[in-house]
Amino acid sequence: QQPAAPDYLRGLNAEQSLAVETTEGPVLVLAGAGTGKTRVLTTRIAHILATGRAFPSQILAVTFTNKAAREMKHRIGMLVGEAVEGMPWLGTFHSIGVRLLRRHAELAGLRSDFTILDTDDVIRLIKQLIQAEGLDDKRWPPRQFAMMIDGWKNKGLGPAEIPEGDARAFANGKGRELYKAYQDRLLTLNACDFGDLLLHPIRIFRSYPDILKDYHRRFKYILVDEYQDTNTAQYMWLRLLAQRPAGAAVNICCVGDDDQSIYGWRGAEVDNILRFEKDFPGATVIRLERNYRSTAHILGAAAHLIAHNEGRLGKTLFTDRSDPDDAKVNVHAAWDSDEEARAIGEEIEQLQRQKHNLSDMAILVRASFQMRSFEDRFIEIGLNYRVIGGPRFYERQEIRDAMAFFRVVAQPADDLAFERIVNVPKRGLGEATIRQVHDTARALGVPMLEAAAKLAESDELKPKPRAALREVAANFERWQKSLETTPHTELAETILEESGYTDMWKNDRSAEAPGRLENLKELIRSMEDYESLRSFLEHVALVMDAEQNDQLDAISIMTLHSAKGLEFETVFLPGWEEGLFPHQRALDEGGRSGLEEERRLAYVGVTRAKRNLHIWFVSNRRIHGLWQSTIPSRFLDELPEAHVEVTEASNSYGGYGSGNGGRQNPYGASRFDNVGSFSNTYSTPGWQRAQQNKTEATDRNWGTRSGHQVERIGYGETDSGFG
Ligand code: ATP
Ligand code: MG
Repeated sequence: QQPAAPDYLRGLNAEQSLAVETTEGPVLVLAGAGTGKTRVLTTRIAHILATGRAFPSQILAVTFTNKAAREMKHRIGMLVGEAVEGMPWLGTFHSIGVRLLRRHAELAGLRSDFTILDTDDVIRLIKQLIQAEGLDDKRWPPRQFAMMIDGWKNKGLGPAEIPEGDARAFANGKGRELYKAYQDRLLTLNACDFGDLLLHPIRIFRSYPDILKDYHRRFKYILVDEYQDTNTAQYMWLRLLAQRPAGAAVNICCVGDDDQSIYGWRGAEVDNILRFEKDFPGATVIRLERNYRSTAHILGAAAHLIAHNEGRLGKTLFTDRSDPDDAKVNVHAAWDSDEEARAIGEEIEQLQRQKHNLSDMAILVRASFQMRSFEDRFIEIGLNYRVIGGPRFYERQEIRDAMAFFRVVAQPADDLAFERIVNVPKRGLGEATIRQVHDTARALGVPMLEAAAKLAESDELKPKPRAALREVAANFERWQKSLETTPHTELAETILEESGYTDMWKNDRSAEAPGRLENLKELIRSMEDYESLRSFLEHVALVMDAEQNDQLDAISIMTLHSAKGLEFETVFLPGWEEGLFPHQRALDEGGRSGLEEERRLAYVGVTRAKRNLHIWFVSNRRIHGLWQSTIPSRFLDELPEAHVEVTEASNSYGGYGSGNGGRQNPYGASRFDNVGSFSNTYSTPGWQRAQQNKTEATDRNWGTRSGHQVERIGYGETDSGFG
């Protein structure tokens, strides 16, 4: 008699079981959205642990976001209990990279307490380097160079390896030198950027085969989720760890979906998934075809939409879930984004009255600027929301200032942080003094803080700046001493008090000041969840999800990019307009690939919904204070009519004529009709419809379109790649 299958295997279908139980050798699971790929990975880990094949510390499991890692840990915990506690190597490429690098920092020329710079720091640093070269930072924007460096690092390229043409393209041909200077400067600062978290370990693995061998022995099982979005550097890193002597099999299991590859713009190579069988000969390839997540309407809409892409492997997807009561995919029209936010807010309140939890709902936006109208509206009506996947909270000025104080205390060599707050609040330290501190630091080869302390004791400065510097140096010395003895939240509070930073905002008369003080309080509160100042700083540096209160029932707002792998009962997809979604950048490119990536993103959005899906478009969008008339997204026309229902928003939400919140309609009353006509003529193809509207509208309405005011997704716009 066969022994009964363990609990965790029950309920899996045959292909899923195969993927879980084929523990030895390479396995690739290639399957569409919601087919249980992540569930397979989780169960596989549980299976490996429960059957004693490996200890928790011998499993390397890579997820795409920190949120996904936490979720996976949680799910494994439910399956196998406490055994999951010891899984130190479950995380994102970056978080595992930090861990590796802290262990071997000295081999990369760093100390183990190195700082991780965020985008802002990186740009400031590059600006200094560009100026030091005597170049004009208007002509050679630091942000652009930061993006170039990021691109090189995603490809695994150091300064010596970048293509000649790339190097010539920036800074009068000094691109390579500048990149090199940047790397050198990072080492001096005992710091690294996100790309380095992978690049340094790659270098170390290559230069120190013994160390690599150690990890080969350690990691008995390797698992990777969202494999379609690995970039070249991640692929190199993974290949090194998965390398085995000829003939020896490696237990690697990757799962992915080529239709969900949405990070091409950050260097992801969907080819990695296609190359798997070549990379790992004898691999078992498993396809999952049953979708367990969504209703037949949602799945039908998704399948029809993605079928418009040419470059795809093609997959079958089916569901058993089809209930005559299932709602069709709802498409709504609104006048503008405020109206859109108001209407969605009402819809959410309606669902709440029907006892739906807010945490089962999500709003997924194409660009983060879209979030503002929802945040504003939800604050107004007292609806709990959570912005996920963005560093938004930590990006606020007061938070960045406070963090800079903490960083200098934890890591005195952090000159960038020091420069940010040396004259905050204002202490009469002019640019000349700061330059002098800078030069002294350079000359002595010491951190700026130390140079400041030296200068404060010399007579090179006038009495006033000298006294100010002396105070700064004494403050930091005192706080650093307390670091070991005082609880870190208490110390943080003390720092903000004693530095005069809290008072600065208390004395500030601006409307934002009270909010800033509240944010600082929230910052201190959130530190309680961390053991030490250092672990908190690391958390922030990794730009984790800015969830402030996990207990609260709240609707999630996030970018489509950071929604990957997640699922919700009800999903709202606002802003389906040409130029926003598909994004203007993709349209400007003109080629097929950008547009197809946008469509995959739409596919990801649609397939996040389990039961209800609401898609919105507006006929006017105000971006950075400028009005633009819009054309409904072509993706709307690519949804199959059989699965779609169009809702006349103007009727359901009280009409536009009187109810537009008292806002002036900049285009005159005729534009109101257009909203209606979009919905009424919805069966007309979008482009034709757009043509009609275009002829009806005045030139002025359409003139703004050519200006491409739509915010571009750029460097640091979504953080999930940084996960
Ligand atoms: P994505 O491509 O969006 O990341 P995925 O393939 O990783 O999706 P999962 O998130 O693992 O899919 O699973 C989707 C949903 O289906 C989850 O709620 C999961 O619990 C459920 N599910 C998966 N397999 C089964 C099964 N055999 N029986 C019941 N539910 C299942
Ligand atoms: Mg998944």
